[in-house]
Amino acid sequence: MRYYIISDIHGNLEGLERALQDIESDLPGEVICLGDVVGYGPDPNECCRVIKEKASVTILGNHDESVIEDVDLSYFNPFAREAILWTKQSLTEESLDFLRSLPLMHNTEHACFVHATPLQPEEWNYIFNFEEALANFRMIQQKVCFIGHSHQPMLLGYDGRQIIIHKSNTLEPKDSLKYIINVGSVGQPRDGDPRLSYAVYDSDSKSCQIRRLAYDIQKTQDKMRKAGLNEFLIERLSIGR
Ligand code: ZN
Repeated sequence: MRYYIISDIHGNLEGLERALQDIESDLPGEVICLGDVVGYGPDPNECCRVIKEKASVTILGNHDESVIEDVDLSYFNPFAREAILWTKQSLTEESLDFLRSLPLMHNTEHACFVHATPLQPEEWNYIFNFEEALANFRMIQQKVCFIGHSHQPMLLGYDGRQIIIHKSNTLEPKDSLKYIINVGSVGQPRDGDPRLSYAVYDSDSKSCQIRRLAYDIQKTQDKMRKAGLNEFLIERLSIGR
């Protein structure tokens, strides 16, 4: 079975459509979305509609949660907060219903899927260091766990003693290791590469690949300007930071 794992769309329809075009030209498989369908970008409703139609499973992200619940927005930086308030008043009842239906985690026999971390997914933590990676690896029953949230693709392995950072975008996994794979972001990459990022996972061979694709950034930026979204959020799409 092939899985196409996308995350952090953030209302960026051009990024989402480009990723899906690539996925649909590939072998048949299941699309799984790791959340943050909305927030930052100009097309939150369209992204909800497309994801609802195309993804077999969608997980709740922290931006999704922030528009469906009365959460404390002081957790977010001022740009994110402003975009959340804009998104909140732009969403239709249909989009809100879809976001309210999303689970915090999805488990299969071979893999788990979560927005932030498998350890306390509702806390929206990041994996920044060895201790945090270790605590999360200990939580995972399956061979591999797919995450998003940081908008930075990352492949981590764990052999029961140490954490291994894989430099390449392709992973041929070893039997003895477990993996945490950050699939990066479709709608707002932050690793210095503005191209969208997503992962392809083969549950038979267990191989995984991070794919990067250029999309029509300018079109998204024009829509953001028209919507009156913050210039900082518009510019960061060009530099991928
Ligand atoms: Zn995000």
